[in-house]
Amino acid sequence: MRTELVAVGTELLLGQIANTNSQWISKELAHYGASVYFHSVVGDNLQRVVNTFDEASRRSDVVIVTGGLGPTEDDLTRDAAKLLFHDELVEHKHTMNKIQGYFDKNNRTMTINNRKQALVLASAQVIENDEGMAPGQIIQYNGVTFIFLPGVPSEMKRLMNDRVFPYLIETFKLESEIKSEMLRFIGIGESSLESELADLVESQTNPTIAPLAGEGDVAIRLTASGNRASLKIASIKKEILSRVGQYYFGSDSITIEEAVQDLLAQREENLGSAESLTGGKFIERMIQLEGASSVCEGGLVAYTPSAKQSVIQVPKQLIEKYGTVSSQCAKMMAEQVQHLLKVDIAISFTGVAGPNYSEGHPPGIVYIGLKVGEKEAIVKNYHFDGSRDKIRSRTVNKGYELLFH
Ligand code: ATP
Ligand code: MG
Repeated sequence: MRTELVAVGTELLLGQIANTNSQWISKELAHYGASVYFHSVVGDNLQRVVNTFDEASRRSDVVIVTGGLGPTEDDLTRDAAKLLFHDELVEHKHTMNKIQGYFDKNNRTMTINNRKQALVLASAQVIENDEGMAPGQIIQYNGVTFIFLPGVPSEMKRLMNDRVFPYLIETFKLESEIKSEMLRFIGIGESSLESELADLVESQTNPTIAPLAGEGDVAIRLTASGNRASLKIASIKKEILSRVGQYYFGSDSITIEEAVQDLLAQREENLGSAESLTGGKFIERMIQLEGASSVCEGGLVAYTPSAKQSVIQVPKQLIEKYGTVSSQCAKMMAEQVQHLLKVDIAISFTGVAGPNYSEGHPPGIVYIGLKVGEKEAIVKNYHFDGSRDKIRSRTVNKGYELLFH
């Protein structure tokens, strides 16, 4: 079903009001998996409205028109439809009675213009408007379904929800179930992830695959519609994980620290940290989680060289020889904290958060040490970009990434 939306009204062209009707309808239609190919806006000019309807009828299956159904001279939608469709305008009894009733109640005389609101195309299916006067109309022209709705947003929405969506679902077999899942990855950049999945991203329309970059991790949103939406998602997810599964740490709202917590719990291992430039940020994120105590022993924060000696017991000679911004220091910090806190896994962070150089190293130089069980500690060296804040949070994220792999 190729859908096109037409908004009628000079005030829209003048920028006096925003075309929120088309925005709303498009968004709602997307939930049903319907494709909207064009939005047009046309002013209150008979010939231009006729031309716009004509053009829309040549390229779309469904044309939804809002506005121009009111009582005034410049409400031209029904006249334009009459001309193009070679149809007649007839009075819709029920609407006429409603308008008459309104004028009687308010002791006013109805004008010809007011009668106009009760006019509908002879061959239209009329959809009554409980919110206002002018009814909606559905009419077939050259195999194209035209749907005319009042411009007032509340009336339009009510008619769309109560009558038009059910009609479209029934007539065009629109899909009404939407499912989505967010797959989360760490340790792979957005561009590498995209290129691994480029063919899928391009060829898939249901589910759609949308990569989203986050801070530290990358996500892929899968959205499927239709009555087998869940199955469609499961099958594309399987394909994606067969390619980049080693970077996947969970779905939807899971965070990397939650994934690490789950992993440690599963392996019955506990964790401790020795932190310099991160100032406890790493362990803080872990402790924020409920149930942290089962896997998280604690962290030691030591910022200056002398604190590293007294708190983490890094030997003075080591610091004098290599400095604190060194792989030797990171390694020693991890070893010492494993010993001091008696943990299975120890992680350490030392480096330069900036903005100034430290010990002759530029901002962003970071060493992360990791000691797992009896194994020899490993140290990774990074050069992060950005402000002091960014460097510190990138360091923490990298720590979680290392633990997850
Ligand atoms: P009425 O019976 O009120 O005259 P109508 O069908 O003739 O309704 P318009 O006169 O075109 O509709 O618009 C009525 C009001 O609805 C406008 O003044 C405007 O506030 C709002 N409106 C119309 N079109 C849109 C649109 N595309 N997006 C948002 N609001 C709109
Ligand atoms: Mg009007």
